[in-house]
Amino acid sequence: MSKPIVAIVGRPNVGKSTLFNRLAGERISIVEDTPGVTRDRIYADVEWLNHSFTLIDTGGIEPNSDDIILSQMRKQAEIAIETADVVIFLVDVKQGLTDSDHEVANMLRKSHKPVVLAVNKVDNMIQNNMDVYEFYNLGLGDPIPISAAQPLGLGDMLDKVIEHFPEQETSEYEDEVIKVAIIGKPNVGKSSLINKILGEERVIVSDIPGTTRDAIDTPVTIGEDKFVFIDTAGVRRKNKIKEDIEKYSIVRTVAAIERADVAVLMIDASEGITEQDTKIAGIAHEKGKAAIIVVNKWDKIEKDDKTMNKYLKDIEFKLSYMPYAPKLFISALTGQRVHKLFEMIKLVAQNHSLRISTGLLNDVLYEAMAMNQPPTDKGKRLKIYYMTQVSVRPPSFVLFVNDKELMHFSYERYIENQLREAFGFKGTPLRFMVREKQ
Ligand code: GDP
Ligand code: GDP
Repeated sequence: MSKPIVAIVGRPNVGKSTLFNRLAGERISIVEDTPGVTRDRIYADVEWLNHSFTLIDTGGIEPNSDDIILSQMRKQAEIAIETADVVIFLVDVKQGLTDSDHEVANMLRKSHKPVVLAVNKVDNMIQNNMDVYEFYNLGLGDPIPISAAQPLGLGDMLDKVIEHFPEQETSEYEDEVIKVAIIGKPNVGKSSLINKILGEERVIVSDIPGTTRDAIDTPVTIGEDKFVFIDTAGVRRKNKIKEDIEKYSIVRTVAAIERADVAVLMIDASEGITEQDTKIAGIAHEKGKAAIIVVNKWDKIEKDDKTMNKYLKDIEFKLSYMPYAPKLFISALTGQRVHKLFEMIKLVAQNHSLRISTGLLNDVLYEAMAMNQPPTDKGKRLKIYYMTQVSVRPPSFVLFVNDKELMHFSYERYIENQLREAFGFKGTPLRFMVREKQ
């Protein structure tokens, strides 16, 4: 189950940033350590009691210079409604109730999204109490007095927010179901691909299980094999605000990747590999997911016998941290090679949960060390006593050594390559931990 998403909406100067920073504390951005991903202050992880959620600040949108406050607020509210599980609607006790507050309240009410109405700048709970009652007029239930600056009342507010979170389930799908997230920047062809897949004759789209949250996923069966495409609602959504939510779509992408086993990263052949592609791929890599790189719109470009190689070279260079990912050149429009995708998904999912016995692992390790001795530093040689696999999804290994400092990145990479040669592991990242043992 991915983390719930909470959005803060409100007029300029009501205190959105102050509240955001107060709640976010030092726990910033979920993806800051991902290669190529710069830290983005528009969202943060928050923990409250036993719950954690992702908070987004829709105030991060830059209004166009001629944008009036109201249209900016409408946009914000649309984004929040599209993206979030719970919306915090922030108003200001000092400014009182305004027309634009009413307008936004109407939008929020119509959306049927859970809304928590928080009245900010109630720095003195006794003195300001009467002024808070005015906000009952918005028809959004009890207004909760807070002061983001002091801070006051934030606990009560968060309690209300958490009440609206979807029930936590221990396990969403049975173990044999392969969870797939189709990811990529807007307009790369994600929804076209999903529609093509669902239109295939052998693909049976299953009934969607009960809970509302699951309705965003699409489970399918092909023969004996069960797959579920994660967050297809977000992917297939088609409307005018799609572009506006681009900036926030990364939050959905991260949530989808977290729930998936396999990430299918789509690239637009007519645009080549862009910085946004490397960001998104970096998230899948960082989260340890199996990955497939799909170059889409292959029908659209001029080709000769060198074109595919040129793309492969470019991928190798720009997505150098994921050489394990198999590549597929498709057209979601014509359906070219789309049928190959399922075999590939199955293969990488198997490798993602592959377990190798300690005996076999160490046979490979000792042979690797015999062929290419471990490095030395200041006369001391690295000794690797043995290794063992500690987990799957992705396969993770512990290497027991005499001195951690002596383990160079290049030698670790060498061992990784030897393991890949021996056991395959196509499509999955591998993780290594080095432990000292006397
Ligand atoms: P935003 O435009 O909605 O993001 O609002 P800001 O967070 O930038 O806050 C606008 C102003 O209100 C700033 O001067 C804040 O210091 C002030 N402010 C925010 N929260 C409180 C509060 O709880 N009490 C008081 N008195 N001022 C606050
Ligand atoms: P999404 O935003 O990633 O879901 O992208 P869409 O599936 O909405 O596709 C964006 C645009 O690209 C649409 O106009 C599609 O018709 C077009 N498109 C998608 N796949 C292909 C393809 O394989 N070839 C060509 N020529 N166009 C495509």
